[in-house]
Amino acid sequence: MKIGFIGLGNMGAPMARNLAAAGHDVTGFDVHAPMPEGVRAATSAAGAAEGAEVVITMLPNGAILRSVAAEIVPAMARGAVFCDCSTVDVESARAVADQAGGAGVLALDAPVSGGVGGAAAGTLTFMAGGPDEAFAIVKPLFDVMGQKAVHCGGAGAGQAAKICNNMILGVTMIATCEAFALADKLGLDRQKMFDVVSTSSGYSWVMNAYCPAPGVGPKSPADNGYRPGFAAELMLKDLRLSQQAAGAADADTPMGELAARLYESFVEQEGGRGMDFSAMLPRFEKRRRG
Ligand code: NAD
Repeated sequence: MKIGFIGLGNMGAPMARNLAAAGHDVTGFDVHAPMPEGVRAATSAAGAAEGAEVVITMLPNGAILRSVAAEIVPAMARGAVFCDCSTVDVESARAVADQAGGAGVLALDAPVSGGVGGAAAGTLTFMAGGPDEAFAIVKPLFDVMGQKAVHCGGAGAGQAAKICNNMILGVTMIATCEAFALADKLGLDRQKMFDVVSTSSGYSWVMNAYCPAPGVGPKSPADNGYRPGFAAELMLKDLRLSQQAAGAADADTPMGELAARLYESFVEQEGGRGMDFSAMLPRFEKRRRG
């Protein structure tokens, strides 16, 4: 397939490399990053999009996505697919889908989970929103870049699934870390805490697969000095997106709101930037009540 790939950063570069390695004809564009192996360089975003059957974007935020979309949609062929894999606000995803639809271009929002490791290994999970026809065209590419792709519904449904999932993840991480810190103060051994909770009703992916306590449970960023993994500032980004969406949809999300505030102070005032999001545990360890 002839593919345009715009945004070749930490995630986009390995995704584009995997597509090229699978035999696809990939033309890339990025304002800073170098071209990954096997990817031909275009001199502009529109240049990467011209003549492509599918254009994939992997960009930092909704404002940049909107500006790239304004440039590339007019350059795209009718019936081509614009597949945005960035994590952005639901409104930007829907605005870009409307713009694409007006030009006869099929749009998908398809954010991912799995992080840089999943992008490199080709084991991402894609959650997609948009028409069936677009999903069917891009599915073979999702199968190269990932191990699972769920078609969640119409425009914006992929972003909705992503931010709801990550709101649960952020809240659960905080609850798990504060419980470990409480257990410490109650004199409970962390390994015993893990042995009980991981097989009791407090279990979760955070506790069982990504335990925030070093030396306990499976290997996780906690065992690597809390180097990410999934950085605290990326969790903050996703929690802010969940709160932006909750505001627009008039949804009451008190736990998500508190999680966003805690990650905000962790990242902006308490040295959490550049740490894994599970470094909430050493944060709670140092604190006292009140
Ligand atoms: P990144 O900052 O490494 O990459 C973004 C790239 O976009 C950069 O190379 C930048 O130069 C490029 N870019 C910016 N403006 C551009 C423009 N106008 N035209 C062309 N290129 C432009 O970020 P990343 O970690 O690769 O994340 C990309 C997206 O994936 C984000 O939306 C992020 O939330 C999401 N995401 C990241 C992870 C992760 O673990 N890193 C996991 C899941 C989802």
